[in-house]
Amino acid sequence: MKQVIDFVKTNREKEKQPAESLGFGKYFTDHMFVMDYDETRGWHEPKVVPYQPLTLEPSSMVFHYGQAIFEGLKAYRTQDGKVQLFRPNKNIERLNFSCQRMSIPTLDEELVLDAIMQLITIEKDWVPDGEGTSLYIRPFIIATEPYLGVRSSKRYKFLIILSPVGSYYGGDQLKPVKIYVEENYVRAAKGGVGHVKTSGNYAASLKAQEEAEALGYDQVLWLDAKENKYVEEVGSMNIFFKIKGEVVTPQLNGSILSGITRSSVLQLLEYWNVPVSERKISIEEVFDAYYRGELEEAFGAGTAAVISPVGELSWNNQKITFAQDRSDNIAKRLYESITNIQLGKEPDPFQWTLEVK
Ligand SMILES: *Cc1c(COP(=O)(O)O)cnc(C)c1O
Repeated sequence: MKQVIDFVKTNREKEKQPAESLGFGKYFTDHMFVMDYDETRGWHEPKVVPYQPLTLEPSSMVFHYGQAIFEGLKAYRTQDGKVQLFRPNKNIERLNFSCQRMSIPTLDEELVLDAIMQLITIEKDWVPDGEGTSLYIRPFIIATEPYLGVRSSKRYKFLIILSPVGSYYGGDQLKPVKIYVEENYVRAAKGGVGHVKTSGNYAASLKAQEEAEALGYDQVLWLDAKENKYVEEVGSMNIFFKIKGEVVTPQLNGSILSGITRSSVLQLLEYWNVPVSERKISIEEVFDAYYRGELEEAFGAGTAAVISPVGELSWNNQKITFAQDRSDNIAKRLYESITNIQLGKEPDPFQWTLEVK
């Protein structure tokens, strides 16, 4: 039985920003989705209400023990004015995967998709149509029980908020990023929560990110926690290298986040018959390949920026740079193909898109 989602309409619609000034995650639409959980009622009373501040007890468990998970996906305006989502079921599955690891009660996946669809239908006018723009969708869950004992919360709030966004790094798409290979701090260890989209992973990464920025870098590349040797991922992107024509990405190992863009890249490369492998790759192997002249490209993949070519990589006082004008550039081809599918400019051979009617 399909659950009814109540709707309370705002009586004050906000002004929309022009595409150039959107940036990333600064503006929010008129409405949001909310649903609460308690032990007797389970997840109950799904509703769309005006976007508004939350009122929470200071003792809410999320503030103390960090039970918080999130997702990130986008709705795109196609050339003919339709609105479509990209692989939303993958995000919803991953949301439940995160719930399980963080001891949060799972959600009905059909209801979550329905909530996203209904919310976006209501906010359709907020889906921008400028170059590189989209409507970013942020589902998240927080622990709301007022209690200071350490155990999992008995109450939660699930929300979905929407933000019209421009390109992630501001300005150019496909702007090469400068990456600093981090050797002092660790993002995640096997057995921990690195493979889960939980807020604390980001909190733990900020210090390294700030130090890299102070040195003139855009992002950090994390190595494995045990040997400080194998490449894991970038702040909010999975990483790929092209070595002698083969695209290599670290295999999922329990501390790397299983990105949906990563999986789309792998699927497309296989479809194009480009050699690809998911395996352990050490940072030393990457640099050795570079010095032998065999490292052709490096790029990150994630929902926010889609594909980010790496312009420079710094490790252990060595800097290597990548030419961006190779005729066999795979990052550009991937970027164009994925964004064309998202925007309905190219056939969608994998049925990745879902129209919001
Ligand atoms: C969300 C995220 C990614 C990218 O995943 P996508 O599903 O492609 O957006 C990569 N790494 C981390 C740590 C993330 O949180």
